[in-house]
Amino acid sequence: MRSLFSIKIEELKGVGEKRAKLFAKLGVPTVGALLRYYPRAYEDWSEPLSIRQAPLDVPCAIRATVLQRPSEARIRGGMTLYKVKVSDGESDMELTYFNNRYIPLMLKEGKQYIFYGKVKANFSKREMTAPEFADAAKGPGVHPIYPLTQGLSSRIIESVVQNALELLPDAMQDPIPEAIRMKYGLCHLRYALENIHCPRAMKDMEIARRRLVFEELLILQLGLLRLKGRSRTENRLRLLRDDSDGYFRLLPFKPTEAQRRAVKEAVADMMGSHPMNRLIQGDVGSGKTAVAAALSYCAARSGMQAALMAPTEILARQHYDTLSSLLKGVHTELLTGSLTAAKKRAITEGLQSGEIQLIIGTHALLSEDIAFQRLGLVITDEQHRFGVAQRAALASKGDHPHTLVMSATPIPRTLALMIYGDLDISVLDEMPPGRQTVDTYAISGDKRLRAFRFIKKQIDAGRQCYIICPMIEEGQNDMASVNEYAQKAREEWLPGCKIGVLNGKMKAKEKESVMEDFSKGKISVLISTTVVEVGMDVPNATVMMIENAERYGLSQLHQLRGRVGRGAHKSICILISDAQNEDTVARLKTMCLTNDGFRIAEQDLKLRGPGDFFGHRQHGLPELKIADMTQDVNVLKQAQAVAREILREDAELSSPAHRGLRAEVRQLFKNKTD
Ligand code: ADP
Ligand code: MG
Repeated sequence: MRSLFSIKIEELKGVGEKRAKLFAKLGVPTVGALLRYYPRAYEDWSEPLSIRQAPLDVPCAIRATVLQRPSEARIRGGMTLYKVKVSDGESDMELTYFNNRYIPLMLKEGKQYIFYGKVKANFSKREMTAPEFADAAKGPGVHPIYPLTQGLSSRIIESVVQNALELLPDAMQDPIPEAIRMKYGLCHLRYALENIHCPRAMKDMEIARRRLVFEELLILQLGLLRLKGRSRTENRLRLLRDDSDGYFRLLPFKPTEAQRRAVKEAVADMMGSHPMNRLIQGDVGSGKTAVAAALSYCAARSGMQAALMAPTEILARQHYDTLSSLLKGVHTELLTGSLTAAKKRAITEGLQSGEIQLIIGTHALLSEDIAFQRLGLVITDEQHRFGVAQRAALASKGDHPHTLVMSATPIPRTLALMIYGDLDISVLDEMPPGRQTVDTYAISGDKRLRAFRFIKKQIDAGRQCYIICPMIEEGQNDMASVNEYAQKAREEWLPGCKIGVLNGKMKAKEKESVMEDFSKGKISVLISTTVVEVGMDVPNATVMMIENAERYGLSQLHQLRGRVGRGAHKSICILISDAQNEDTVARLKTMCLTNDGFRIAEQDLKLRGPGDFFGHRQHGLPELKIADMTQDVNVLKQAQAVAREILREDAELSSPAHRGLRAEVRQLFKNKTD
């Protein structure tokens, strides 16, 4: 397989310079890459139907004989129309083609063909418009459908792939060792590649697909396990004792049972025989920060340093404010990109000497000149925004430190398994007392003024309010561009109210001062793009209004909604949307019906599919080519078990039987797993 990745695609029959460029656009520069460029769907020509059996308006294959020579007629606009009568011996059908003068030459009277396309019913007559066709005697099989780019049709790709398949060596190596293939009933790689591209029948494709999914997930799991290096490492940074009860006494509130449980689980990990590797999953507002603080406190009391990385400067600062006032006696500092050089130097030194016990920051923490004296605990907040490699980079500043990741996106368990591999999970499934559900209303734009009247009342009562407008994209003419919107709000909708504006283009300093004004109550209404999505904690805010709500995923809407309902006052969320398609209406309705983040996440997954659910880049995993997070959970579990088994025997993947796997893992993770 390796060597096929060094053969340029131009070397294939049927690929010149121009096509090579188009293939490059698809991310397919070599023969090896082409063989791993899997079809996204198939047209099954292998089991043609009769005319009567054919469903209406769904693409399908039909076997029929041409009854007469195609007729030709000129129609308006200089078009030529060809009509072809066909029959399967039981019923007739009429085919229509436009402007294709080869039709009379290609479709021969008395001959049988397979026609592929949609059948329509015109009164009692069946007809097809411009179906594709093939000689029935040749027994056409299954045609692959590839993701396209302009200038490369699926048929072209199919024929080039056929040429590529001919290059497969007779004694082809398979990265999956034979013993594993036998045990799990997986076909050989060669069979898999041939049948994922050009199967004779759909069941052959299924066999091929199962193997390729297994392979992809096995390699993914091997890579993730190796990144964590967990199976190899002993815990060299044990907590000296459990200091969490001392911490709980520092809290201004009573911890929830769920928080207490999560802290105890994590402390047990940190006292155990392997470094901790734990995910804290909790809905917005469930109090994850208090758990992070507990562990930072325990780490500091046992003489270790802790680092907490947040995705944005604002969030980092908020954590800093919370933790530094809570953990008196723990030397805490904030590190972000916007520090002065002198301050940054002081922090660098303090970390190196061990004087700083807890550092909170953005990805500035990853900078090369940051080193620790004894890094024992790495915490990342809102974890799906960091890549696997980024987390690993921070951890590599210590000697296998404990890691804790906090996720506010409630991820269905199956997906968590997929992404985090063997991470242990604590779930904060209980809200702090007094938290209320946020009533949610979906309204159309013409009710906006009523919404503003409600907001005005809230402000008069001393409450605060968020309004979210979509991000302005370059060159896009947005009705709700934030500044324009703010101007209208000042002049028309909310005259006399103190309004602040926040958008993604502002400098960090400006953003921060606006946020600060809002959290101190100097501003009553914060009009913003989704930069408030993560972390903002202003208990006095009681209204979250979201313009163009159709543009957001359910989980994102839920995150936004989680910014309100944090204090003693009744809070509401208003979703404004004029979109009328069923999907959108269903999504917004889900928001109105439930406040349960897990239910919302499951629903989101159902409605939008997993690709969208995460957005490929967000979770920082290599992109999956064939496995499907919703369908292939069972294969995933198998692959995970096999990956563990393999690494238990051969942690470095250095035995000859595992050499192929090792090469694939390195390729998928771009060499980061060594
Ligand atoms: P999230 O899980 O969304 O990060 P936070 O950690 O920001 O939630 O907590 C949300 C709010 O709830 C904060 O104002 C925090 O002080 C408060 N809080 C956390 N735990 C408790 C508790 N056990 N009792 C009361 N309030 C709590
Ligand atoms: Mg948080």
